[in-house]
Amino acid sequence: MLMTREKRTATRTLTGWAIAVLQEAGAIRECEYHGWMQDRGDPHARELAYEFARHDPPPGLSPEAAAVAITEALDSIGDTCPECPPGV
Ligand SMILES: [Zn+2]
Repeated sequence: MLMTREKRTATRTLTGWAIAVLQEAGAIRECEYHGWMQDRGDPHARELAYEFARHDPPPGLSPEAAAVAITEALDSIGDTCPECPPGV
């Protein structure tokens, strides 16, 4: 699961942080062929990501703002990879 993870400068941004948290919680995953993030639609994994965000927000950010960042990251991620053929 962690095999495809790369160290990216994007994790320095708030969106990158939120995506890293969501990935850590298992709420999203990367398409193994194209690298697009996909929402797995798992409510328990999402809850875990929110809990992680609230308990351990990035420096200078309130727990509420961290939770909002998680929501915004989820909103930006589709539940399918845009490059994978449908139904696969
Ligand atoms: Zn794909």
